[in-house]
Amino acid sequence: MRLSRFPIATTKETPADAEIVSHRLMLRAGLIRKLGAGLYTWMPLGLRTLRKIESIVREEMNRAGAVELLMPSIQPAELWQESGRWDVMGDEMLRIKDRHKNDFCYGPTHEEVITAIVRADVRSYRQLPINYYQIQTKFRDERRPRFGVMRAREFLMKDAYSFSTTAEDLSQQYELMREAYIRIFTRVGADFRPVQADSGNIGGAKSEEFHILALAGEDLLAVSTEGSYAANVEAAETKPTGTRAAAAATLEKVSTPGQKTCEQVSKFMKVPLTAKVKLMVAKAADGGLIGIAVRGDHEINPIKAAKHPKVASPFEMARIEDVQKAFGCEVGYLGPVNAPIPVIADFAAAEVADFVCGANEVDHHLKGVNWGRDCAEPETADLRMIVEGDPSPDGVGTIRLLRGIEGGHIFQLGQKYSKAMSLTVQGENGESITPEMGCYGIGVSRMAAAVIEQSHDANGIIWPDAIAPFRVIVTPIGTDKSPTAKQTAETLYEQLIAAGVDALLDDRGLRPGPMFADADLIGIPHRIVIGDKGLAAGQFEYKHRRADKAEMIPATLEAVLEKL
Ligand code: ATP
Ligand code: MG
Ligand code: MG
Ligand code: MG
Repeated sequence: MRLSRFPIATTKETPADAEIVSHRLMLRAGLIRKLGAGLYTWMPLGLRTLRKIESIVREEMNRAGAVELLMPSIQPAELWQESGRWDVMGDEMLRIKDRHKNDFCYGPTHEEVITAIVRADVRSYRQLPINYYQIQTKFRDERRPRFGVMRAREFLMKDAYSFSTTAEDLSQQYELMREAYIRIFTRVGADFRPVQADSGNIGGAKSEEFHILALAGEDLLAVSTEGSYAANVEAAETKPTGTRAAAAATLEKVSTPGQKTCEQVSKFMKVPLTAKVKLMVAKAADGGLIGIAVRGDHEINPIKAAKHPKVASPFEMARIEDVQKAFGCEVGYLGPVNAPIPVIADFAAAEVADFVCGANEVDHHLKGVNWGRDCAEPETADLRMIVEGDPSPDGVGTIRLLRGIEGGHIFQLGQKYSKAMSLTVQGENGESITPEMGCYGIGVSRMAAAVIEQSHDANGIIWPDAIAPFRVIVTPIGTDKSPTAKQTAETLYEQLIAAGVDALLDDRGLRPGPMFADADLIGIPHRIVIGDKGLAAGQFEYKHRRADKAEMIPATLEAVLEKL
């Protein structure tokens, strides 16, 4: 590609609303342009990177035996009513009506659609296992779209769904995907960690996230010093310490009669019933109890709850921010003693002993909790459930807390959707089998931003070769004085293209400073500078984007190819 014909729009200005470096650099390098909150155009340069990530994902999915299809982004409400998620999804799902007043949503995910497809098309166990995937635009009406394409509302996801006749086979499909993900994240050039994850509102059992490590990450990860344990803190096993440890044995996991309460709570908080909301208990200033719910992506009406007259809480709003900072996630009050709102904790006992508390999930309640014995004083306690230096839950080493950007997520769903949507296939002996499902997502567009978070310097982006919009830029200098450099650059460029190298020729005739500044900002990994002086000595100048200094190499295609 010739820069004279390829519009790049780099700018020096740093956009005011861009809080993190990848967002700033993506705008400054002209990779994306904002259309509205969480809505971005991928400009030609950015699109090249996006397509390269897509290709890597596609190649590895195909290699793992998954089969590509493409589902509609608009989905009829009936499917979501069948699965039971129409009423559970909350405001993140964009709901729309067609001209006949029928309900639809813009797909935030595709479990329902794929289950309906398999239900219609797959009859026999012989057709399984199958793993379908697509690379497609999703819409989620994020409460706080931010960081550019990192948390957008419209974004590109690779989503895959496997169907197996047995749980053992599901484990195998999951393992295949896990391996494919390791290859994908490695090829993209990311420094990443697979961690145990909370399965969120998608439901199901085993689940891992692939996190791209970066300080700007919204997730907090607990990783053992020995590397044998890694979990999103949302899913980390907590090791009670101090007074809590002594009492742990008396805390009993119960399935409370509060299941109805759970449903009310999930409705009230607009969080799915299955979402695991971690609950911590704190004592309000008036002696009543309040719960603090903690979850990555849900703010639980803190203002409403905090304004409740009963919550003359020790935490002012400012403190909430502290807590948020400590957790790296949203925090809110659930309610005080006898709150008129449905509360997760059953604080029927206004006293400080023998109350029930827990998450809005069956079997995640603790009975017989005693404030003094089991709950640390909020003023002195470190509110994090798992802290730096804690013993690792697997007994090896201690915990380090790292920040990560969730780039991918794999789940064993089991029969959640196949059961709800009556998907069955015929088994070997004519019996009816309800398939075991898995689902596997990758944030293709988020990945581009996440890699920039890890790979940049003061001058701009440093793309890993595999996903750079162009691999090498050829820059002739002094072209106003002599035509030789220009002609040599043209020839080298043509040769590189003929050799299958993604080359960019800066034929804009600018001065070296602005040309180099653009090449650095857009992050092209390899740069060849061609000038009369070098040519007189039979040399090109070569510089890797990461190198401090340029070096002279022979002025031949072979010498250039050796560097790439
Ligand atoms: P998050 O915790 O960041 O909200 P999620 O757990 O809701 O993500 P999944 O449902 O697991 O996301 O979707 C699969 C992948 O899609 C995620 O791992 C992430 O990389 C990507 N993704 C999710 N939400 C967004 C978004 N708003 N913008 C860009 N990518 C996203
Ligand atoms: Mg989310
Ligand atoms: Mg998540
Ligand atoms: Mg996820």
